Amino acid sequence: MAGIYIHIPFCAKRCIYCGFFSTVRQGEAARYVEALCLELRERSGWIEGAPVKTVYFGGGTPSRLTAEQIGQVLKTIHEAYDLSCIEEITVECNPDDITPDLISSLAMIGVNRISIGVQTFNDELLRFLHRRHTAAQALDAVNVCCDSGITNVSIDLMYGLPGQTLEMFRTDLNTALAAGVQHISSYCLSYEENTPLQALREQGKISPASDELCARMFTLMCKTLHKGGFEHYEISNFSKPGYYSRHNSSYWDGTPYLGIGAGAHSYNGRSRQWNPNDLDAYMNGIEQGSLQPEAENLTATDLYNERIMLSLRTAQGLNLSALTPQDRISVLDSTHALITDGLLLFENNTLRVPESRMFISDSIISSLFKV
Ligand code: SF4
Repeated sequence: MAGIYIHIPFCAKRCIYCGFFSTVRQGEAARYVEALCLELRERSGWIEGAPVKTVYFGGGTPSRLTAEQIGQVLKTIHEAYDLSCIEEITVECNPDDITPDLISSLAMIGVNRISIGVQTFNDELLRFLHRRHTAAQALDAVNVCCDSGITNVSIDLMYGLPGQTLEMFRTDLNTALAAGVQHISSYCLSYEENTPLQALREQGKISPASDELCARMFTLMCKTLHKGGFEHYEISNFSKPGYYSRHNSSYWDGTPYLGIGAGAHSYNGRSRQWNPNDLDAYMNGIEQGSLQPEAENLTATDLYNERIMLSLRTAQGLNLSALTPQDRISVLDSTHALITDGLLLFENNTLRVPESRMFISDSIISSLFKV
């Protein structure tokens, strides 16, 4: 099984915190879609004939494309790949792009999951972040998806925003529950290099939320969403039973994936490749047949560290039977003190980070890496 990720780098305007590769040059969309289709045909060998289980349009803002353009890409995937086992096709959308027409057209071409970039239901914080939508538009967007036949709707939320209180985040969580979505991804704000947000911080114009407040928000989120019937299946991801993201879960369990588009990464179990983070370099390279993705062959140590890092982010944890006998012994040696201190759980031959420690899991997990 394999996944296909399609990167759509277009955004109507830039949000102040965003460190992703994206561009406001939306006039290039038609040419870019042609380049995606060419790359899809050229690189079908990467997943070695494996059936494709998931397709994910991420960005950027994929909803800046028309349903016809997304359909053109999906048609190419149908022609060049084995989709006999397809389970999930996701399109990320911004709330202000969502219309009944767009969503019903996407549903008609096979899209069965919509992920909406809400971030917060607080209008003041949305304005501060330079998001294009309001809270009311976000709620309308969720309703439009449900009314247009999409039964698997995810929203993104952020916490740890400057000026955001615990009560404001509680309101966001309760609003999300009342909206009736099936999946919530929620991330603590991070300050990325070269963003306007980072500049505001350096100029002393905003005060970042304290680690203590962020940890309290994380705990509140876990409690509130559990109460609302959600399962916490990865550090930042919660779903109603059965509605976990198939695509993202395949990143965490090491399934190969093909990344198509500018800046997209691919992984085949042995190596990683990534396209240039540059629209012109990508489109010219594809059109002229000269695109040279950067590549890295993964060593046994890289693969071991990745397995540890990705599996311990999930509630499923790391099943030691997936490791070589030698690695099993070294993991058990290095985790003994962490298990005694309650930072890791060991049951049924599986290591897991308890939910109460997930907020600090990066330091727990990195202490297990081989150097
Ligand atoms: S819409 Fe998403 S990708 Fe675009 S600038 Fe905002 S956060 Fe970044």
